Amino acid sequence: MAALARSVLVTGSNRGIGLELVRQLAASPQPPEHIFATCRDPDGPRGKALRELSAQHPSIRLVQLDTVDLPSIRRAVQVVESCLEGQGLNLLINNAGIGSHATLQSVDSQEMLAAFATNVVGPLQVAKEFLPLLEKAAKGAQKTGLSCSRAAIVNVSSKVGSIGLCLGVLEAPMYPYRASKAAQNMVTRCLAAELRDKGILCTAIHPGWVKTDMGTEQAPMTVERSVQGILAVLGSLSQETSGTFLDWEGNSLPW
Ligand code: NDP
Repeated sequence: MAALARSVLVTGSNRGIGLELVRQLAASPQPPEHIFATCRDPDGPRGKALRELSAQHPSIRLVQLDTVDLPSIRRAVQVVESCLEGQGLNLLINNAGIGSHATLQSVDSQEMLAAFATNVVGPLQVAKEFLPLLEKAAKGAQKTGLSCSRAAIVNVSSKVGSIGLCLGVLEAPMYPYRASKAAQNMVTRCLAAELRDKGILCTAIHPGWVKTDMGTEQAPMTVERSVQGILAVLGSLSQETSGTFLDWEGNSLPW
């Protein structure tokens, strides 16, 4: 199997789905040459598992990136740019996110705004700041058409953000989380429309309900299985699937 991409950046990669994405990318038979594993605090206790992983794989480069802090995003762009030595960035995975279980009774503006800051503004700002590097990858590619190996933005979304499905609201209202993921989906859709002609693919992906700090132990799926599915789906993306909302098995979801 060909490498998914020459260079990949993952946000929120110190635990959960992000950490497993980095682990499986690095362990793949043809790993990317550059895996930019970003997180808020790579040197602190929360970065321990990622530091241990990166010690085993020279392709992994730890980069500080807080997705709600613009100076931090800009510093990360500089680090990535200098590592790439004139090449572009092929694949940006906006994985970092926060949950919220606020109900109609408990919700307040602070929790709504926090969810929007991390789940909507964050991925959009990260995409905006890394756009020159993604454009460079798209222009420099030998191939035409859209793919993760050329240039792509993948936003990790959630099925509970689907307005079309509007799943389980009474059992799990999660107003801030659902609304923020629905808004993030619109961002994905707009980016896909705007960046298509620049050769950049944009897709939203639902990882399933996964055993992580956010998904909790109650979740039916292991992080290993979810990420195996996500990476297989990413490898299959093309012009036909840019601007769509897919799950970890490649099934299409309504927005
Ligand atoms: P976790 O809570 O396990 O991990 C979240 C990650 O996001 C952590 O690495 C966290 O870093 C990071 N993060 C949060 N805020 C920021 C920020 N401002 N800057 C940088 N990193 C940040 O969640 P999951 O791994 O389960 O979720 C990953 C993605 O998958 C999310 O977008 C989530 O919405 C989505 N998802 C998850 C599902 C599940 O069942 N688990 C279901 C559907 C979607 P730190 O350690 O510093 O807090």
